Amino acid sequence: MAGKLQSYSSDHITVTFDPAVCTHAARCVKELPAVFDVSRRKWIDPTAASADAIEAQVQRCPSGALQCTRHDEAPAALT
Ligand code: SF4
Repeated sequence: MAGKLQSYSSDHITVTFDPAVCTHAARCVKELPAVFDVSRRKWIDPTAASADAIEAQVQRCPSGALQCTRHDEAPAALT
């Protein structure tokens, strides 16, 4: 069954999560539990850490289920 893409935003960053892609390695919840907490109904809270910390964690997701878009800097500044 294909999952539905979830989207969570703060003023600085939008994090999307694709449950169909997630391999449940739980890296996000172990490494940045303030933001990624499956006990909450909205399990990703993008206001609970800096956008830099969230972006770094999203990049460590092994499956690519997590993606993010910054609102607070020009895309050209990335990479
Ligand atoms: S780090 Fe990525 S693959 Fe692992 S549980 Fe989180 S979203 Fe799923």
